[in-house]
Amino acid sequence: MKKRLAILGSTGSIGTQTLDIISCYPDFFEAEVLTANNNAELLITQARKFNPNTVVIANEDKYLQVKEALSNLPIKVFAGNNSIANVVESDDVDIVIGAMVGFSGLIPIMHALEYGKKIALANKETLVVAGSLIKKLGEEKQITIIPVDSEHSAIFQCLAGEYKNEIDKLILTASGGPFRTKTREQIEKVTVKEALNHPNWTMGAKVTIDSATMMNKGLEVIEAHWLFDVPVSKIEVLVHPQSIVHSMVQFTDGSVKAQLGIPDMHLPIQYALTYPERLKIESDKLDFVKLSQLTFEKPDTNKFPCLALAYNAIEKGGNMPCVMNAANEIAVQYFLNEKTTFYGISKIIEETIQKVSFIKNPSINDLIASDTEAREVAKNIK
Ligand code: MN
Repeated sequence: MKKRLAILGSTGSIGTQTLDIISCYPDFFEAEVLTANNNAELLITQARKFNPNTVVIANEDKYLQVKEALSNLPIKVFAGNNSIANVVESDDVDIVIGAMVGFSGLIPIMHALEYGKKIALANKETLVVAGSLIKKLGEEKQITIIPVDSEHSAIFQCLAGEYKNEIDKLILTASGGPFRTKTREQIEKVTVKEALNHPNWTMGAKVTIDSATMMNKGLEVIEAHWLFDVPVSKIEVLVHPQSIVHSMVQFTDGSVKAQLGIPDMHLPIQYALTYPERLKIESDKLDFVKLSQLTFEKPDTNKFPCLALAYNAIEKGGNMPCVMNAANEIAVQYFLNEKTTFYGISKIIEETIQKVSFIKNPSINDLIASDTEAREVAKNIK
């Protein structure tokens, strides 16, 4: 039986790599649903190639363009975010790949969980914003969310077969981004182009800037907390510039398990789709003799304050990670549009967190309201 996939965010970095995997294993997987935010051209090309049952374009202004381009094919075309949330409910969908960017991924993933779908989750913001609600829903529906994020896939792989063995700590590795060796004074003046030039990974713009600020690692700490039910005090970030060790688990007997590999997202995406089995990937493999060195260092939160902001937000809990995430999405967009500087990003987040009121046990509607409020506040910070 082929696994039928709904790829939410099919035109992004994770989405296109998921389609690569379908191309390699057409007998194992098929694209049932493809959705895109704005990239109508690529969505049309993908639909023509993969012949899904349904496509959705979030930007409603592009509905006619997509509809007309696919009019000679038996493909259903919808538009708008509500449609994305609805199409995952189909009986013909087996696995939902959450590869959208930011807060927009949350509602469709909640729908998919409610309808009992398997989830392969790349969209870390979903867990950052609403981790406790998602976790509760997953438990109710008895669904294990399989991580696609490389660090969390590494931990997930390290935990295979460990059943209830107690975890002493999770060690999330971080490349340190393009500015690891620069001073704070140098980082103050970095350009958008420099920030988009990640040393090891090719990713979308949002996550690449998050990597440069290390907010990405902060979001991943929160993501790991919810995925693996480990307190934040037991989640450590370790800078590992070579990105070969993708993350580690230390058990209470002192044993440390790590997952290693070349930096390539095809592996964690494919593993999430085939778990608990593995399928061959034709790519370069690690050559330990050629590896010159694997180095590790502590992250510098003076140079990368976003990492500390994320730890503070999850320690405070409630709606604070949601507020932080919304402010970060605005701040990153401002940085990409050259409306703020690199350290303007952490400043916008910090001020937004101070201004939005705290809710201890937010409902989904509280979180949607907090997200909206935080975006407004963040936009008005000078
Ligand atoms: Mn990651």
